[in-house]
Amino acid sequence: MVESCIFCRIAQDNLPSHKVYEDDKILAFLDKYPLARGHVLIIPKAHVSNIDELSGEDAQALFHTLFKLTKAVQRGLKTGSTTIGINNGPDSGQEVPHLHLHIIPRFPGDGGGPVHAVMRQRPSVNDEEMLQITKAVKENISA
Ligand code: 5GP
Ligand code: ZN
Repeated sequence: MVESCIFCRIAQDNLPSHKVYEDDKILAFLDKYPLARGHVLIIPKAHVSNIDELSGEDAQALFHTLFKLTKAVQRGLKTGSTTIGINNGPDSGQEVPHLHLHIIPRFPGDGGGPVHAVMRQRPSVNDEEMLQITKAVKENISA
C-alpha cells in the first residue's frame, strides 16, 4: 500500500470507485474518465509500478481476470471488439504509476485507432539488427 497512490487508495476502499470485479489479488473498476462507455481498469492489489515488478502469481491472476472481464465487458456493452492495453512505464505515457490493464470497448465508427496508432512512424530495422534484437530478447528471458 502506497499512501500517495490513487489506485492503492481505491483498492483499500479509501477512494470510491465503480467496482466490477474483486478477489484477494485483483480489483477491476470503471475508469473515471472513460475513453468509451465500459472502459475498465484491472489492477493487482499489491502496488507495483509496472510489469517488471509484477510477481508471476499476480501476472497469472491479472491475465485470468483480463480473460474473464473482456468477455463480460463485450457482452455487457453489446460489442464484439475491445482494445486492450497497458501503458507500461513513464516513457509509454503511463500517468498512474500503479500497474493497470485497460479494457476499452470498441464500436463501429467510434473514431478510435488501432494499437499501432501509438507511434507516428516505424523505424527501418535491417536483418542484422533483427538478429541482434532477437538475441538480446532471448538472452533476457527469465523464469
Ligand atoms: P494511464 O495513462 O496511467 O495508463 O491511465 C490512467 C487511467 O486512470 C486513465 O484512463 C484515467 O482516466 C484513470 N483515472 C485517473 N484517476 C482515476 C480515479 O481517481 N479513478 C478512476 N476510476 N480512474 C482514474
Ligand atoms: Zn498503488
